[in-house]
Amino acid sequence: MKDLKNHSLIKEINRAKILDTIRRNPLVARSQIADKTDLDRKSITNFVNELLAENLIEEAGRKENSAGRPFTMLRFKEKYVAGIYIAPRFIRGVLLDLYGTIVSSYEEDYPIFSPREKILETLKNVYTRLTFGNNAITGIGICLPGIIDLESGLVRESINMPGIRGINYRDEFAKIISHPFYVEEESAAIALAEKWFGRGRNYDDFVCVEVSGGIGSGIIYQRRLFKGAGKYAGEIGHVVIHPGGKLCRCGNHGCLEAYCSETALLAEINKLLKTPIERLFYYEEGSIDTASFEKLRENTGIEIGHGLAAMVNILCPRVIILTGSIVALFGEKLLDSIRRGIAESSLRGCTENTSIYISQLELLDAMGAATLALSKIFEVPDYYYV
Ligand SMILES: [Zn+2]
Repeated sequence: MKDLKNHSLIKEINRAKILDTIRRNPLVARSQIADKTDLDRKSITNFVNELLAENLIEEAGRKENSAGRPFTMLRFKEKYVAGIYIAPRFIRGVLLDLYGTIVSSYEEDYPIFSPREKILETLKNVYTRLTFGNNAITGIGICLPGIIDLESGLVRESINMPGIRGINYRDEFAKIISHPFYVEEESAAIALAEKWFGRGRNYDDFVCVEVSGGIGSGIIYQRRLFKGAGKYAGEIGHVVIHPGGKLCRCGNHGCLEAYCSETALLAEINKLLKTPIERLFYYEEGSIDTASFEKLRENTGIEIGHGLAAMVNILCPRVIILTGSIVALFGEKLLDSIRRGIAESSLRGCTENTSIYISQLELLDAMGAATLALSKIFEVPDYYYV
């Protein structure tokens, strides 16, 4: 832990406050920064001069206030960060400016369970397409599914991507990526996207749960990721909701993921279709009758609710934000049955404090990865989080 009396730490925090004010207020004057922060004008002038000298910000003309007095406006220079999401069937990249606006995106597919070489080759293609000819990129964030040792760089397990199991991502990615890069687990990155750009901006503590090919969650506590002692906290997909039940890909029986993942839903939907489909992605709305679809939605929601009840009982989160292909398939109505499932399996006092929403963000996995690089500019670890 750093010493708060430390002068350089105070400087870092104040600088972060100014950068954050510029980020949240595109085109802002020095005096407006003073109004929005607790910093004195002399300090602001010094920091702004420092940021101008570093080429991070620039002056952008003058504007008159209501009293007719002109102010020089400030904005970020054209600098970028990239976010890359390595998924079981594709790799997606986004390029963001420092305000978090998507400037470009690119995606390339591969078959599920592709070998390591194919995944790394695709990563190289996506990285090259995103960064080619751009000399103003400050860093790259990458997220991937699995249990990742962020200290050693080892991918200890990836149930949905066996091709990356056992690799040292730090060594492998360094052969491909020439920018500074930062890595995080996918569900954690999604929670960070919500914290920076989504509904999570309004809450210091919340949980983000993805229900897709796998089921995982990212926990934000006091505006930072909570990872637990082993750094793998949030593996809600492997909470057992039916002891001795269906076999899960993790080897246990009865996990939430065995009932509510894409694979589980695909099997249920195919029982109702005349011609089975290979992927949930190919499901066409209305191709099973309304009553059967609603039954499936209700059962799935209740199962998800039983899984989330464990989280509600233990963490009592103010907000749960849901995302993923299963949530997209069933839409807002899924929330009613999820609430029922939670109510059936949790203490009433806990449930009453928890609101549940569906994420409104697009490309939030790659956006979340990009926040890893943004945080190097805007956050002071342990002391200042946006
Ligand atoms: Zn499992």
